[in-house]
Amino acid sequence: MAKTKLTNLIKSKVLAVEEKVIKIRRIIHQNPELSFAEKETAALAAEEMKNLGFEVKENIYGTGVTATFINSSDPTAKTLLIRADMDALPVQEKNSLNFKSKKEGVMHACGHDGHTAILIGTAIVLKKLAQEFEGNLKFVFQPGEETSGGAAGMIKAGILKNPSVDAAIGLHLWGSSPKGVVEYKTGPLMAATDSFDLEIIGNGGHAARPQNTIDPIPIGAEIVSALQTLVSRRIDPLDSAVISVCNFEAGTTHNIIPDRAILKATVRSLKSEIREKLATNIKKIIANICDIYGADYKLDYNFGYPAVINDAALTKILAQAAVKVLGKERVQKRQQAEMGGEDFAYFNQSIPAVFYFLGIAPPGQIINHHQSDFQFDDSVLKDGVAVMVQTALDFFAN
Ligand SMILES: [Zn+2]
Ligand SMILES: [Zn+2]
Repeated sequence: MAKTKLTNLIKSKVLAVEEKVIKIRRIIHQNPELSFAEKETAALAAEEMKNLGFEVKENIYGTGVTATFINSSDPTAKTLLIRADMDALPVQEKNSLNFKSKKEGVMHACGHDGHTAILIGTAIVLKKLAQEFEGNLKFVFQPGEETSGGAAGMIKAGILKNPSVDAAIGLHLWGSSPKGVVEYKTGPLMAATDSFDLEIIGNGGHAARPQNTIDPIPIGAEIVSALQTLVSRRIDPLDSAVISVCNFEAGTTHNIIPDRAILKATVRSLKSEIREKLATNIKKIIANICDIYGADYKLDYNFGYPAVINDAALTKILAQAAVKVLGKERVQKRQQAEMGGEDFAYFNQSIPAVFYFLGIAPPGQIINHHQSDFQFDDSVLKDGVAVMVQTALDFFAN
């Protein structure tokens, strides 16, 4: 089929499914479920996938669901994975929507309700367009993105096999990008999110006789300052890194030097070399400063989600597909990465993958994710479906 004719066919199929996608998004929004408790959401997704006749697997790494659509008899046909996250947040919704959260203290405040609805819509449209492509699709509904992450666990459970997956794609509705605009970027898009818990073990005593103590507070203060020099003096100014000590607890009152201080920090970076360099040097700084003052310490350094790194060839397919369905003016190349994290990153560690943003911000506004007044206009969902469908078809045609 001619290219523009195919794009027009996609657009008409997307419009036909839009009402259903909005309805699904609102049902999920009204019934939000916290990370790894996405039972009803997973059941809804599984039900829709079964109705399409796909092979559905449930309860993968908790509540994860996969649906496989084999649309080629050729054993060498390519397989594309499309992923959505399903979890909500422990936030009390303050919006006055008629589909507002029915659950006290739980809310879809990040847009994952939209991601799940877009993926269901994408599957429905791709099934309708089965004659227009040859290849296999794996639709992945994953749990727990907001906490410890479900992607790595699902990959470990084997979702990249049978059939073997060649590439992965995912999106995030994005509050700082203009409504209905796709933003793409080759290479690093989102940061690796590491963290550490440090306990400085000193030796407390009378505040008036500091010479008889090992005071953990100035030791902690010195560590906090020294960590900042890692970013300002050890990392290339054109590279990115963040170290934020967000918790520093010690002591109880004016006249007692405490025994211990607790520090908690997040460490973010976009490149694996920098990630390693930060970890090594943070450990060194802590060990050496504690040593100078005779303090002991316990350090728990935790490597979290890796960075989201977009494959160049796939990003190009995505960007061109987005232009076809949305028009040039609604597709923008991003210059900068985000220092936020996203466990879609585990896909790009195994196979070529691309993650992109679909803007939800009305003109002149920014929508803050994870806040009680987070909301977006349902009309962007059809754009997400259209971009996913066109990208999938172009991926198979490539
Ligand atoms: Zn979030
Ligand atoms: Zn999110």
